[in-house]
Amino acid sequence: MMVNFQTMSEEMKKDFIRERIDHDNESGRFEGKVVTRFPPEPNGYLHIGHAKSICLNFGVAQEYQRGPCHLRFDDTNPAKEEQEYVDSIKEDVRWLGFDWNEQEFFASNYFDQLYGYAVQLIKKGHAYVCDISGDDWAEYRGVPTEPGKESPNRNRSIEENLTLFQKMKEGEFEEGAYVLRAKIDMTSPNLHLRDPALYRIKKASHHRTGEQWCIYPMYDFAHCLSDSIEEITHSLCTLEFEVHRPLYDWILDTLGVYHPQQIEFARLNLTYTVLSKRKLLQLVEEGHVESWDDPRMPTLSGLRRKGYTPAAIRQFCDTIGIAKRENTIELPLLEHALRSDLEQTASRAMVVFDPLKVVITNYDDTCASEISAPVHPADETRGTRTLPFTKELFIERADFMLDPPKKFFRLAPEKEVRLRNSYIIKCNDVIKNESGEISELHCTLDPETLGANPSDGRKVKGVIHWVSATSHLEIEARLYENLFLAERPDEVDEGASFTDHLNPDSLKVVTAYAEPSLGSATCGQNYQFERVGYFCPDNTSTPEQPVFNKTVNLKDSWGKKQS
Ligand code: ATP
Ligand code: MG
Repeated sequence: MMVNFQTMSEEMKKDFIRERIDHDNESGRFEGKVVTRFPPEPNGYLHIGHAKSICLNFGVAQEYQRGPCHLRFDDTNPAKEEQEYVDSIKEDVRWLGFDWNEQEFFASNYFDQLYGYAVQLIKKGHAYVCDISGDDWAEYRGVPTEPGKESPNRNRSIEENLTLFQKMKEGEFEEGAYVLRAKIDMTSPNLHLRDPALYRIKKASHHRTGEQWCIYPMYDFAHCLSDSIEEITHSLCTLEFEVHRPLYDWILDTLGVYHPQQIEFARLNLTYTVLSKRKLLQLVEEGHVESWDDPRMPTLSGLRRKGYTPAAIRQFCDTIGIAKRENTIELPLLEHALRSDLEQTASRAMVVFDPLKVVITNYDDTCASEISAPVHPADETRGTRTLPFTKELFIERADFMLDPPKKFFRLAPEKEVRLRNSYIIKCNDVIKNESGEISELHCTLDPETLGANPSDGRKVKGVIHWVSATSHLEIEARLYENLFLAERPDEVDEGASFTDHLNPDSLKVVTAYAEPSLGSATCGQNYQFERVGYFCPDNTSTPEQPVFNKTVNLKDSWGKKQS
């Protein structure tokens, strides 16, 4: 299903999670407390899909004002996890505008406790050590429509299970030799209840516990118990965990511990993007992008570097709401949220990309040599910037036509145009070089028109941007297109890869000519290059070598497409 704003049904806009919490509160469940958690696995950088989960979990906790939202690193898989990811996740959550108030946890902190719970299950006769592993187990487990086959280890004595589990912990067995399984129901139509693995042997070094453990809890075992230990009330997770919920409930009920409520919601899918850490890692490792924070990546760090604002992302998450069914959101909706924010907040600047020289033939010392222009036309309090005005200027080549059609309101022979924030000029002569190309325009300015309002009675419809040809800043501009050409790059034929859909022209680097005020731009500031688009300084930009990333076009394809 493709979702756009207009077709989003009322049912989907209605947030069933908050309704559920209200209901729990009214009935006195959890003593009216609301405690949520955001549980990333530190095996990659956060992406825009995670932002949806962050906004939901932290948002709910804030709204109900009764409990915090925990930040919990779900670090039970030693092979893939790294401190670098932990650090980046914290930075990104903070950047997005949320604070876990020191409620920072690691599932690995609970390894002792989790081991204890596993021993309890064995002692209660609800878990056993099994030597059937991997592929063989798939055969025992079977298919939903027929009962599975019981493991011959299923009825091992409690003593034997305890001894074997102890030996697993002490490293006496090879990886894969044994697993600890819950003893539930091999006939259940839900395969997750057919004696799922709870612990596996993994001889890997863990980013926090080092070599201390060689058995690690499975996600399903660690997650519900971590929620329980932290007394989370509402454990919000994505839809694929719906079929795991009976196991979540079984473990907590069988152990008789604090029992949070798991509630599932649809994960965010976006067009022209992949949102899986595994695939994003592949893009980095295979060099299709420069890094996790490459501005073409849908990671929060990539979006930040591209010029996205936290407010725009939060607004986007708010707009799409929380759905109960899988859906795909159109990328232009994200860009729409961004433009709405930047229109209000971005400083204005003039930058010429494809320069055509204009010589002001009547320029003399009665003309302004510096012009003051507002940083933001709708907000005087933002102050002004200074534009050097000189005899020779650059305008955009596309803003001049020798033989213009009727509705061309820019510059043409014998026509007038207003230079943004400056004078009205008239084109008197067109100078061509030996190969017949236009090399410069000779124009005259009207000294009466400086700073005047475009609607000052002079019939000049066009306003164009410009910079001084002699006093400007050369910048490197990085122009981005979508990273993928296909609307749904994940959908590929057998044998093909999502990387087949990569856009070979997703990055174009050009030189542009900017007003000097951009020399003091620093990372984290947003600019509207007037009539061109939104840009921001790259995090590698220096005063000597200014580099700007294109954030988004000025034009909004979202509104147009819908009408
Ligand atoms: P990926 O598929 O990218 O590896 P994941 O679900 O394995 O994602 P986690 O680090 O486990 O990544 O995710 C942390 C939290 O963010 C989980 O609660 C998860 O459900 C949620 N989440 C991940 N991806 C999305 C998404 N696309 N939309 C909404 N929530 C998401
Ligand atoms: Mg996960």
